[in-house]
Amino acid sequence: MDSLFGPSLMGERKRILILGGTGEARALASNLIALGHEVTSSLAGRTRAPQLPPGPVRMGGFGGVDGLAAYMQEGGFTHLVDATHPFAAQISGNAVIASAKTGIPLLRLEREVWLKPESANWLEVPTMEVAAESLPAGARVLLTIGRQEVGAFFGRADCQFVARVIESPETVPEGWKLIAVRGPFSLEDEIGLMRRHGITHLVSKNSGGDAGFAKLEAAAALGIEVLMVRRPKLPDAPTASTVEEVLKRI
Ligand code: NAP
Repeated sequence: MDSLFGPSLMGERKRILILGGTGEARALASNLIALGHEVTSSLAGRTRAPQLPPGPVRMGGFGGVDGLAAYMQEGGFTHLVDATHPFAAQISGNAVIASAKTGIPLLRLEREVWLKPESANWLEVPTMEVAAESLPAGARVLLTIGRQEVGAFFGRADCQFVARVIESPETVPEGWKLIAVRGPFSLEDEIGLMRRHGITHLVSKNSGGDAGFAKLEAAAALGIEVLMVRRPKLPDAPTASTVEEVLKRI
């Protein structure tokens, strides 16, 4: 079987750098540590109070591909796992190049995309900008896209917005409602939120994973149209879709 850790390293203690910022990255760190590996997790440092994985954690950008390559070499890492969010395209691209430059093998952990429930009404769009342009005038919109990209919707003064975020953006136009809260949310939570705000349209990234699917079920149940932003295209890399699969490949 194709193993991340190759036959010569089987059974040995490895020094693994996990590019994180996701629940899967935390679960992976915890499992790898339990198996006796040395694991360092890296976070971008975007949130003030991030959920931390077990083991050593470093914060902040590396300074591009060369910084990442140097960090891995200086730290004596034997393996790199990119367990970042599917929309974190820059760091995933950097990981591919840094792995090629250093010869340190890379495995990407990438969740499966969400598939449209039978009864749902989805418009798949390539970017946030296209999502913003596609909203009809008068729409009451729930944004579940994080804080970094809400700016794409600032020009739509003819719609009403509720933005659910983990941390509030620095500024939003007058009249926007911000809900700063961390999931997961149940189907009942999501139906309640959408009903309370009279939502007609939901904008979501196709992040995938179990945790965020309830909002899509809620939208389907309430007949709310979903503008589903497709994932950015990432350069090819060896990929696993679950934590279990990564662990098996060890
Ligand atoms: P991005 O656009 O791909 O990355 C921009 C820059 O941030 C990278 O070039 C890198 O800086 C730094 N960076 C990103 N992730 C890093 C990490 N894990 N460790 C160290 N540096 C990192 O990333 P993003 O979309 O801003 O996301 C930032 C982080 O938030 C990711 O780690 C991701 O897993 C998490 N996250 C993102 C989303 C999302 O929707 N984008 C959602 C949930 C969680 P240098 O070039 O200086 O190394």
